[in-house]
Amino acid sequence: MVQSYDVLVIGGGIIGLSCGYYLTKQGKRVVVLESGGFADGASGACDDMILFQSKKPGINLELAFESLELYKSLVGELEDSLGFANYGGMVLIENERELEVMEEFVMQQRSYGLDVEILTKAAMRKKQPFLHERFIASTYSPMDSQAYPFAVMHKFARKGRQMGMQVVHKSPVVGIQKDGTGDFLVTTAQNMQYRAPHVVNAAGAWAGKVADLIGLNVPMEPRRGQIIITEKIPAIGETNLWSAKYLVTKLKPGIQIDSTEEEKRLGLAFALTRTEGDSYLIGSTREFVGYDKRTTMEGIRAIINQAVSFIPVLKDVNFIRAIAGLRPATPDGKMVLGEHAGVSGFFTAAGHEGDGISLAPITGKLLADMVCEGRSDARLEELSPNRFASNAKEVS
Ligand SMILES: Cc1cc2nc3c(=O)[nH]c(=O)nc-3n(C[C@H](O)[C@H](O)[C@H](O)COP(=O)(O)OP(=O)(O)OC[C@H]3O[C@@H](n4cnc5c(N)ncnc54)[C@H](O)[C@@H]3O)c2cc1C
Repeated sequence: MVQSYDVLVIGGGIIGLSCGYYLTKQGKRVVVLESGGFADGASGACDDMILFQSKKPGINLELAFESLELYKSLVGELEDSLGFANYGGMVLIENERELEVMEEFVMQQRSYGLDVEILTKAAMRKKQPFLHERFIASTYSPMDSQAYPFAVMHKFARKGRQMGMQVVHKSPVVGIQKDGTGDFLVTTAQNMQYRAPHVVNAAGAWAGKVADLIGLNVPMEPRRGQIIITEKIPAIGETNLWSAKYLVTKLKPGIQIDSTEEEKRLGLAFALTRTEGDSYLIGSTREFVGYDKRTTMEGIRAIINQAVSFIPVLKDVNFIRAIAGLRPATPDGKMVLGEHAGVSGFFTAAGHEGDGISLAPITGKLLADMVCEGRSDARLEELSPNRFASNAKEVS
């Protein structure tokens, strides 16, 4: 039997559930089809940061401001704290070269409305007394925040279901076609069929494979990230932390920065956040290893060594778990959001790489506006799936 809906969302990660929630809120009959179980993708194996300081002035930073406001309102709307917290964040600077790049970047971000500043060594150490002595300065923004991805996903699903949304697990989508009426007919591995005039491809790192099912090109590469989780410990500083090194190499690709071969191979960058449960998430790697989402001894050892070199007291702390997830990465580093030319009614909302938790609410809201009101604002043009060549195959 074919089940009919207004919108079929493929992928039940934080992006698919956010899209499903906002579409349902606007009165659409929605089913979310997820190939695995709850939180099976990157959204169940990641950090929790709503991070501003990593973002260049432009669309991602603009959307992050809007997403933060939505998170604040979702706390009431979804009737849960969502692990939302606002400890602020600091980017740790090791040498003069990094300082020069970060000073320029902070100025650009400030002119775009981000509350961020450079702290002297003394001011930095006041907020972070356990840091290694070698750090010469840091940035500080009180805006960097966080939300617990499991809680956000769980509450999107719960509230969505209360309003009529269906979430079907263990249902990998294996076929998508248009039928004679112009509707989409989607088939799962269990041979279940779903019909709707709209489909949203929210399959994260697998979005390219899903697009392929209907002859579309969405270039998406999985980028593995490994992190470790510590036991509960007392707070070791006032804010969450990142290293400037990775950011600086992204901002000035040619810059000479001392990195070991292992750091380069693993794409290692320091990130530390305190969870609602008083443990710390410490990461992470950025590796192109296909769809392999296993943790590795090399990755975990490198994360631990790096963490102890940043905050020596961590050598006496136990870690209780290591996890790995696949960030959905696009060639130009921007997410894909919008309707595909030539396949009316087919939308993609994927490719957030390291920003999917930050940008989940705003992605869902904008996607729902596009589907429900046929409205896409001009500033989103640069995120359109149609920016990729050979996209415009006509599908009848
Ligand atoms: C180590 C690490 C740290 C990170 N830290 C942060 C952070 O601090 N802040 C931040 O903003 N972001 C962070 N990210 C990035 C963030 O996790 C991702 O951007 C986000 O989770 C992507 O969400 P998604 O819903 O697009 O993908 P996913 O969560 O991967 O969901 C996609 C879903 O689609 C399903 N699927 C695939 N194919 C099919 C199919 N054929 N049929 C049905 N379902 C299908 C998959 O099973 C999966 O559940 C981090 C990521 C990692 C790995």
